[in-house]
Amino acid sequence: MAISRRSFLRISSASALGVLLTGKVAYAEDIVLTNISGNTFIYEKSGGTILIHTSADGLVIVDTQFPQSIEGFPAHFKLSDSKKIDFLINTHHHGDHTGGNQLLGKFADKMVAHKRVPELLTELAKAKGEEPGLIPTTTFTDTWKAELGKETIKAFHFGPAHTSGDSVIYFEKDNVAHVGDLCFNKLHPVIDRSAGASIQNWTIVLEKIMNTLPKDCRLVFGHSGEGYPVTGNADNLMFFKSYLTALLEAANNAVKTGKTKEELQKLPVLKGFEDVKSRGNRLSLPFVLGLAYDEVTGA
Ligand SMILES: [Zn+2]
Repeated sequence: MAISRRSFLRISSASALGVLLTGKVAYAEDIVLTNISGNTFIYEKSGGTILIHTSADGLVIVDTQFPQSIEGFPAHFKLSDSKKIDFLINTHHHGDHTGGNQLLGKFADKMVAHKRVPELLTELAKAKGEEPGLIPTTTFTDTWKAELGKETIKAFHFGPAHTSGDSVIYFEKDNVAHVGDLCFNKLHPVIDRSAGASIQNWTIVLEKIMNTLPKDCRLVFGHSGEGYPVTGNADNLMFFKSYLTALLEAANNAVKTGKTKEELQKLPVLKGFEDVKSRGNRLSLPFVLGLAYDEVTGA
């Protein structure tokens, strides 16, 4: 029997059976959460994957996508002056991870991020002649930790990588971590050099993540290539680290052999990484090769 999306959502929101059948929980038409471990769920719509940790002890939301994609959150989570988000955390400052901050921030007890996040958000707003609005005020340099009932939440910053303000948000009991955009799963990445990104240090940061989290930790990624999941494990980090290393190697070889940036950008494939997907002009092999070239030449 064919079930339309609309009636599926109505059925599953009326019954816990939907959870058993699909692993997905539908409450309101647009809010479909996927359980990944214990009290931890993910929400995918547009922009970076959102992680939601919800239990009788409280509510934690990691990243906020865009205002349109989370407009159903306040009703769905019954947010009010007395029902707050205990911790609203941003993995980094990019708009596809912080765009919903204005909507959800007013229901947040604490907005948490690495200290570079409010700085970068303020810089971006100023450049547009705007006020930054609600930005994280609970900030940290290297680590942050909080208890929420039986769960312990830890944040780690390991240095410049995708930006200069990336962090990993780890839920100890559920053994899940949101690594934000520190891993693009089988997708050419955004490398934000204007915000202090470093491909070289990114490979070190990935190593540090693998050394810090338990081997069997479930990981949530900001983005993935078409057909690939936004969740995974340390193997995905290892693959992405090899990819970044290959990117730098290609750029270094180009410089050594006297090639220009444009010549390097004509490289048809990165050997061993042919299955990494593109998205638009920027998330593509030529574009990231150009950024790698800029980094190795100090441009
Ligand atoms: Zn990003």
